[in-house]
Amino acid sequence: MNCREVLLKLNPYLEKELDIFTNKQVEKHLDNCPVCQNEFKTLARTLRIIKAVKAPPMPRDYSKIIPGASNSPERKC
Ligand SMILES: [Zn+2]
Repeated sequence: MNCREVLLKLNPYLEKELDIFTNKQVEKHLDNCPVCQNEFKTLARTLRIIKAVKAPPMPRDYSKIIPGASNSPERKC
């Protein structure tokens, strides 16, 4: 596996969407390639921030955002 292939697989690798075989190949490459390792660290940090920002507000206002999700008295039918 070369750098280009590994970089393309970093996202699914972080999301744990790869099969075991591909997963191992990416891991092995990261062990030997500081360039991809650096890329991996940056992506991992970015994903963590995105998830930290996205996660909390979602469930809280769920019933307010979607009409009919809660028993609203304004419903006519
Ligand atoms: Zn590489």
